[in-house]
Amino acid sequence: MGHLKLHIPGPVEINERTWKAFCTPMIGHRSKDFQNLYAKVQPQLQELLATKQLVFLSTSSAWGMMEGALRNLCVKKVLNCMCGAFSDKWFDVAKRCGKEAEALKVDWGSPILPEQVDEKLASGEFDALTLVHNETSTGVMNPLADIAKLKKNYPDVMFIVDTVSSMTAVPTKFDELGIDLMLAGTQKAFALPPGMAVFVCSESAMKRAETLSDRGYYFDLLEFQKNAEKSMTPSTPSISHVYALSSKLDEFFEEGLEARYARHAKLSQMTRDWATNHEFKLFPEAGFESQTLTCLSNGAREGGKVVDVPELQSLMKQQGIQIDGGYGKIKGTTFRLSSMGDETEETMKHLYEVLDWALGQLES
Ligand SMILES: *Cc1c(COP(=O)(O)O)cnc(C)c1O
Repeated sequence: MGHLKLHIPGPVEINERTWKAFCTPMIGHRSKDFQNLYAKVQPQLQELLATKQLVFLSTSSAWGMMEGALRNLCVKKVLNCMCGAFSDKWFDVAKRCGKEAEALKVDWGSPILPEQVDEKLASGEFDALTLVHNETSTGVMNPLADIAKLKKNYPDVMFIVDTVSSMTAVPTKFDELGIDLMLAGTQKAFALPPGMAVFVCSESAMKRAETLSDRGYYFDLLEFQKNAEKSMTPSTPSISHVYALSSKLDEFFEEGLEARYARHAKLSQMTRDWATNHEFKLFPEAGFESQTLTCLSNGAREGGKVVDVPELQSLMKQQGIQIDGGYGKIKGTTFRLSSMGDETEETMKHLYEVLDWALGQLES
């Protein structure tokens, strides 16, 4: 079988221009050429994330930095805001790193609300917090800006935020948010191959890291800072990713960041409209729907439409499209349609047409 067009929420489809850049012949990672390459993407990344801090590149998937952030920033106890598979896992990872951790847990499909976070932080027990902005497993986008406002009341709490499936698709203005560490993997909204993470941290995060002696080496924030000042990375990076990132950032600015955000808002609205027109309920609580992917409830809630999800996936596959059949404990009772990366109204309309055909097949 030929290539399946990916409409799963990561990895997503990679365009020709990005692949060409990815395949640029290799250079040495301590060469002037590499320094020039990193120095070229640095201001673009700073503009994208609206920050004056240096933006770092980690050759790892997002989880590397999600774990690394805890190892660099948590001394006392971390509050893990849990609302889906990725945010739930972060609690588990904190404990595996030997950290004291406490859960702030809401039902899958619900968002994390600022008042819930405030109530927990008020105990004074915490010096770090983890939050997933866009919970890819449930299709919930948490109110990041409202939660980030709490930072000024709790300056000693390190706000660590996963924007893996939102960075580049919705504004994630780091300095304005006032948070301490923000990270994303490249295979989601960036539409790059998997294998690299982009992240940024605050000055107070750097100061906190200095106080920890067991932060390790590979994800040491101080190493990233020291090297980035010379347009380098601590260890040999995936240079191919940096070439691809450079090409992708050019694309972002050619499109314009505002136009890019508007496109994602439009495409996710189109998918929600398609869903409700077909009597599917949306899994996320109203008002907290993701703008990069749509999680559709498969009849489990409020008497919505019910389909055989694996069968729907296999019909889609016959037409060359891969969709997701639900993640973790909501596998089969939900399914997800991604509109992140390079998708356009045209490509999304094609997806809906094929879905219409597949639903027709299921009903006949
Ligand atoms: C995909 C994803 C991750 C994990 O990324 P890896 O690349 O597997 O490390 C973490 N958080 C969110 C929100 C994700 O969507």
